Amino acid sequence: MRIFQNISLKPYNTFGIEANASQFVELQTLEEVQVLCQTFNLTDRKLLILGGGSNILLTKDFDGMAIKINLKGIEIVKENDEEVWVQAMAGESWHSFVTHCVEKNWGGVENLSLIPGCVGAAPMQNIGAYGTEIKAVFSSLKAVEIATGEMVEFNNEACEFGYRESVFKNKYKGKYIIVSVIFKLNKKPILNVSYGAIQDVLNEKGITSPTIQDISNAVIAIRQSKLPNPAELGNAGSFFKNPEIPAEQYQRLKNEFTEIPGYPAPNNQVKVPAGWLIEQCQWKGKIVGNTGAHKNQALVLVNYGNATGNEILNLAKQIQDSVYNQFKINISPEVNLID
Ligand SMILES: Cc1cc2nc3c(=O)[nH]c(=O)nc-3n(C[C@H](O)[C@H](O)[C@H](O)COP(=O)(O)OP(=O)(O)OC[C@H]3O[C@@H](n4cnc5c(N)ncnc54)[C@H](O)[C@@H]3O)c2cc1C
Repeated sequence: MRIFQNISLKPYNTFGIEANASQFVELQTLEEVQVLCQTFNLTDRKLLILGGGSNILLTKDFDGMAIKINLKGIEIVKENDEEVWVQAMAGESWHSFVTHCVEKNWGGVENLSLIPGCVGAAPMQNIGAYGTEIKAVFSSLKAVEIATGEMVEFNNEACEFGYRESVFKNKYKGKYIIVSVIFKLNKKPILNVSYGAIQDVLNEKGITSPTIQDISNAVIAIRQSKLPNPAELGNAGSFFKNPEIPAEQYQRLKNEFTEIPGYPAPNNQVKVPAGWLIEQCQWKGKIVGNTGAHKNQALVLVNYGNATGNEILNLAKQIQDSVYNQFKINISPEVNLID
């Protein structure tokens, strides 16, 4: 394990923001994670745990230690005729893990194909897409407590998963390094084609009895047609979460804006697509200096070249203000803001 000083984080964040970390270390094994936590007093310093850097916005140089998690490996830990419990180490690419499962015909993660990033970050915000989220297939995870270097196990309930939320973004923020995750997958996959354009893509291809490979391919095709590839245009996917508002407020808005979409959410709330709100405020495709809201998906903020983290943040604030002025709805970032 070697600790580097003053390292550019540009290759480590999909927004492609230029910012330096005072210290940088890459960890390949569980032992290295534990040794780092036990040797250095990490609770005294600023830390940035890094997977694929696809859900962060670096707002300035990072005056602390960036820790890139590279632990690799996928293995079966238990199975019966119906189900298989598969453990993936935190540094595995999420999409490679999905591909592995799809090839083995283990169902449950195919709708989450092509989400960038690593397995270790997936529970952080309970990643979700196309009608599912990892909570549905999550069995447990192992994490190293930063203060002690000890390993702790969290089951599904202990992770307190919510919409783009978990305990690791809330009361345990900055307290643990996730090292591995166990998923419970189905050997007799139950397909979920109800969301988005999956069924349309299958129809177009004349597929009447789809496999999970067909679902995965459909999701990949839809995502590639709608979302900018971070390798070509810096971004971190959806910048904002879809706001959940009280049903009465939604009804009042519906009277004024008859087209406003809304989906039932827990506690008599209605989830409103943030992309629609942003689009109504005329941000879709708008370019502001080096930044902008993407032309196909207004929810995705992009770096057109040499944007600084602050430029993206300023754009985000302008968008939040205009959505609030027009709809009296606060939209909050899904992306983790790092300062
Ligand atoms: C084009 C695009 C499309 C996207 N689509 C989706 C989507 O459909 N659904 C969705 O949910 N997300 C989506 N995202 C967001 C992102 O891909 C996910 O949130 C992903 O899980 C982030 O993984 P990462 O490894 O890149 O995390 P990072 O950005 O590296 O980290 C994210 C957060 O998790 C913390 N963290 C990372 N690894 C660990 C670890 N091992 N232990 C503890 N903390 C850790 C970081 O400190 C940070 O706070 C998209 C992003 C892009 C660029």
